[in-house]
Amino acid sequence: MVEPAQRRKRRGVSPEADVNDDTHVFYRNPFSYYPTVARGDGAYLYDEYGKRYLDACGGAVVSSLGHSVPEVVAAIKEQLDHVEFAHTSQFTNAAQEKLARMLTDRAPGGLNHAYFVSGGSEAVESAMKLARAYWVQMGRPDKWMVIGRDQSYHGNTLGALAAGGNRWRRAIYEPMLFKAPRVAPCFCYRCPYDKKPESCGIDCAEDLERAILEAGPEKVAAFIAEPIVGATAGALVPHPDYFRRIREICDKYDVLFIADEVMTGLGRCGSWYAIRQFGVVPDMLCLAKGLAAGFVPVGATLVHDRIVDTFSSRRHIFQHGHTYMGHPLAAAAGVAVIEYMETHRLVEKSRKLGDELLARLHEALGEHPHVGDIRGRGLFVGIEFVADRDSKTPFEPELAFHRVLRETAFDNGLVIYPMGGTVDGRRGDHALIAPPFVITRAQLGRLVTLLVKSIDQTLARLVPKVAS
Ligand code: PMP
Repeated sequence: MVEPAQRRKRRGVSPEADVNDDTHVFYRNPFSYYPTVARGDGAYLYDEYGKRYLDACGGAVVSSLGHSVPEVVAAIKEQLDHVEFAHTSQFTNAAQEKLARMLTDRAPGGLNHAYFVSGGSEAVESAMKLARAYWVQMGRPDKWMVIGRDQSYHGNTLGALAAGGNRWRRAIYEPMLFKAPRVAPCFCYRCPYDKKPESCGIDCAEDLERAILEAGPEKVAAFIAEPIVGATAGALVPHPDYFRRIREICDKYDVLFIADEVMTGLGRCGSWYAIRQFGVVPDMLCLAKGLAAGFVPVGATLVHDRIVDTFSSRRHIFQHGHTYMGHPLAAAAGVAVIEYMETHRLVEKSRKLGDELLARLHEALGEHPHVGDIRGRGLFVGIEFVADRDSKTPFEPELAFHRVLRETAFDNGLVIYPMGGTVDGRRGDHALIAPPFVITRAQLGRLVTLLVKSIDQTLARLVPKVAS
């Protein structure tokens, strides 16, 4: 069967159309922009017409094991055969106890507790509220502020949006967001201080001290950051000393450090947790996406002993909660995902294949006149596109380069995650490549071939406009 032309046309998003990257349809809408997914198998997804797509981004960096993994499916079924749900205010369950142990055993020292929720935004909300509650417990009720960074994304709920620095997602909700100071991103390709990483003095980390002093240290509860920035900037790897300095500043002013590893955690960057690569221990660490690899929705916040001990010793509870916390199916899926990753040594594979992917991309696109930067860690790779490579000038936002690239790649049977980040206060273009850890080397080659073809076709489509 072939996809009807009329529907195909509807799906196609014209570059001029004023739609957000995140335009989501309401289902049962008279028309849908997207093809209907029918099945998945390994690194591939198939639509209802049998068209095959190489899933090179796991949706939004979710499907780290690929699709339809029998071991995970069996674990979910087995849990269903025993019990589907029991509320965490009345029962714990074996799956969440086991998953908590598995996550904390792999976490940096002191992060010995897990708080399970249903997704990334909930994990971030929980962490920020826990930070606030902690300082109240500690007799410092004035501490409530959360500092975030420009070029960051922490979720779409109001609190997570308030802490994040994605101006497009925040725009119309601005009046509803609590005041959260933001600091400079650690963005070496486009250093906000116009410096070189070899000699910069990490001014972007020092910016946190400025923001804390400006807000008043007595008011600041926490600082939140993605170890490697995902959705807003395309796998931005920080300066190697950045997080060490951040940790020092947080300690100096009694500010908790929340690492948002919703995208980067669980092997995505070539280690169980990306923050480990920067030699610091956060006070809390948020997870989702790769945690159950898309088999069920789940999120978690790992919490340091010193926070949990404060609650236990003062006999207080954390006044917060969601109905589906610690859901047995989600936890069973999480356990099966981690077991599968151990059995197949997928963290190591993410690291090695990531190096290979970066090398192949540098080979294929390193000299490309419209590729400004190729960056990332493990199977978490970003490409930034520019109109002019020397001046790093981005494409005009009206061209919607990233959106046309996404559509073109999709037509070529390649799913990538291009987004319009913010560059010098306006929209820039990047793509996130985050294939499943089970991708084969042959599929990796195919990914690069399809990507290069899609970039060239996108430019051919836009060139008259670029030139004019
Ligand atoms: N934090 C980060 C770093 C993310 O990338 C995302 C999702 N892209 C979130 C939080 C929010 O997660 P969710 O969409 O599951 O609420």
